[in-house]
Amino acid sequence: MRQNEMFLLKLGEVVLKGLNRRSFEDRLVANVARRLKSCGSFQVYIRQSTIYAEPAMDSCDMEAAYAAVRQVFGVVSVARAVPCEKTVEAIVQTAKDYLADAFRSAKSFKVESKRADKNYPLNSIQISQAVGGELAEAFPDVAVDVHDPDLTVHVEIREKHAYVHAPAVPGAGGLPVGMGGHAVSLLSGGLDSPVSSWMMARRGVELEMVHFVSPPYTSRQAEDKVLELARLLTVYCGRLRVHIVPFTEIQEEIRKNCPEEYFTLIMRRFMMRLAQALARRAGAKALITGESLGQVASQTMMALGVTDDVTELPVLRPLIGMDKVEIIKMAREIGTYNTSILPYEDCCTVFTPRHPATRPKVEDVRAAEAKLDVEALMARSLEGEKWIWVKP
Ligand code: ATP
Ligand code: MG
Repeated sequence: MRQNEMFLLKLGEVVLKGLNRRSFEDRLVANVARRLKSCGSFQVYIRQSTIYAEPAMDSCDMEAAYAAVRQVFGVVSVARAVPCEKTVEAIVQTAKDYLADAFRSAKSFKVESKRADKNYPLNSIQISQAVGGELAEAFPDVAVDVHDPDLTVHVEIREKHAYVHAPAVPGAGGLPVGMGGHAVSLLSGGLDSPVSSWMMARRGVELEMVHFVSPPYTSRQAEDKVLELARLLTVYCGRLRVHIVPFTEIQEEIRKNCPEEYFTLIMRRFMMRLAQALARRAGAKALITGESLGQVASQTMMALGVTDDVTELPVLRPLIGMDKVEIIKMAREIGTYNTSILPYEDCCTVFTPRHPATRPKVEDVRAAEAKLDVEALMARSLEGEKWIWVKP
């Protein structure tokens, strides 16, 4: 590890939140600190809308920490930086040492300076000129190019120190988890629902996961797969509670008593009702699904109306306007794709109707459902519910 190297994290939208800003910042600092715990002992604090994360021991894993802070929602960019005294000489010396490799592989460079300390005697243009002039002398083979340089040397004059770094890389963006409310996310083993969960977590939503299982029609591996998907999401949202809810009896009763064309729709109404019951218990204020308009028969506009008929909480469907290829691309990017494509049965695929209704009417589905004792089936299912904490 380079002596003194640390991270400067820039906040995104958080900065815009006016009165709430303080609580956003506190939350983000706490989330970054929690995420860094597994990488060693770090000191994390905020000054002037920039989070400083400084390793407190030589044994800190800086590569792991670099990856980790880039996954924290609310951080828009991450720079690895080295602090030094706030003099031109110290800044130049630090840039020469710290960015020596970068200078060796660059043909041109420029210096870009920022002055967060407004009392500093030089303004940012003067800092760039002074530092740039000396670096040009130190690296005569690297030309100054202020328009399109290979290397941009960043200098930030902050409260206590100056910081030198190469360009920052993008962070995960969004809002800090915990600032966007609390919602129950319906997690199947498919491609879509890990992505929809991730998208809402990125808007700051704290997630509570629910997964429906139908043993013996669904296997232990299918359940493990879902727990693994949740574990993959914990690097972004911290530990997650996953509720496992038995669904076999409900599916068998639907098959015995209801018209085949409505199997899936009635099943989805039960999922929504059960998720809502869990949300009420947990104090969550919305449900999240991975539905995308028109993707399957149960996701036509009329079908979505039939499912929404049984919920009072808002149902958030962040994938509603996305194409499958876009969803797959995101699944790859967030790291859930390879697990999602493992071939275990989900309860949705058990008892799939041959000709599902695509233009269902709410009254017809309600009538078809009337043969079932909804309350009793729900109560028995919830009795069998168990939950597991999934940790990073
Ligand atoms: P996915 O790829 O997420 O499985 P899908 O396109 O296969 O979605 P459906 O199986 O109809 O679509 O499910 C739609 C949504 O319902 C899922 O995105 C998920 O939010 C929820 N869901 C489906 N099956 C389950 C389940 N077994 N447990 C929890 N939620 C489920
Ligand atoms: Mg599915």
